Amino acid sequence: MLELKEVQAFYGTIQALKGVTLEVNAGEIVCLIGANGAGKSTTLMAISSVVPVGGGTIAYDGRDITRLATDRVVALGITQVPEGRMIFPDLTVLENLRMGAYLRRDRAALKADEAHALDLFPILKERRKQLGGTLSGGEQQMLAIARALMARPRLLLLDEPSLGLAPIVVEHIFEVITRINTEGTTLLLVEQNAQMALQVAHRGYVLETGRVVISGTAADLLADPRVQEAYLGMD
Ligand code: ATP
Repeated sequence: MLELKEVQAFYGTIQALKGVTLEVNAGEIVCLIGANGAGKSTTLMAISSVVPVGGGTIAYDGRDITRLATDRVVALGITQVPEGRMIFPDLTVLENLRMGAYLRRDRAALKADEAHALDLFPILKERRKQLGGTLSGGEQQMLAIARALMARPRLLLLDEPSLGLAPIVVEHIFEVITRINTEGTTLLLVEQNAQMALQVAHRGYVLETGRVVISGTAADLLADPRVQEAYLGMD
C-alpha cells in the first residue's frame, strides 16, 4: 500500500532522514520506534509532504506521491494525526470534528461518520459542545484521532498518541487503535512507548539517526535483545 525507498529529508543543512526504506501493507498496523530525534515524526511528515523529500521515493498504491502537495495526499486517503494534536482550541468538539471532513462533499455519510467517531470515544459525545482548548490531554488526543477519521482515511498516520497521557488513557487509546484497524483502516504508528506499540502492531521498524536499523514482526522485535535493551527497558 505504502512504500518508502531510501527517503531522505533535510531541515536546512541538518539531514533528519538518511535513507528510510519501509513498507506498509493494506490492513496492517506498523509501528516506528526509536529514540528522540531518530526521525520518526519526520518520516510521517515526509509521507504527508509536510516536509519535502530530499531524495528517494514514496509510492502509494503503486503511484509516486513523493512530491504531491499535502491536500492531494489527504485526498488520496492518507491522513496524519500530528504530534501535539493541533486541535482548534476555540472550536467545540463537534466543530473540530467537522474540520476533519472539509475535503468531503458527501453530507449524508458525514453524519453517520460523525456518529461513529463519537461512538468510538463516548467521552467526546458527552463533551461535544465543549471548547477543544478546555479538554484534558487525553480527550484532545481522542479528538485528534476522531477528527482524522472524519476524512475517511485508508491509511492513518499517528504520531505519538500516548505522549504525556496517564496509563489508563493510553490503554483506551490503544484499544481504539486496534478497533479502527479491525474496521478496515491501515495504520502507521510512531511511538516512544515501544511496549504498547508492539502489542498492537503487526510489524515494526526501529529508527536510529535517520535510518532503519532493525525491522520485523512485532513478536520478533519484542524478542530481540537489542530492542529489549534499548527500547523496552530490559537488560
Ligand atoms: P521525537 O520523538 O523527539 O519527536 P523523532 O524521532 O520524531 O523524535 P524527528 O522529530 O523526526 O525525530 O527529528 C529528527 C531530527 O531532525 C532531529 O535531529 C531533530 O532535531 C531534527 N529536526 C526536527 N524538526 C526540525 C526543524 N523544524 N528544524 C531543524 N531540525 C529539526
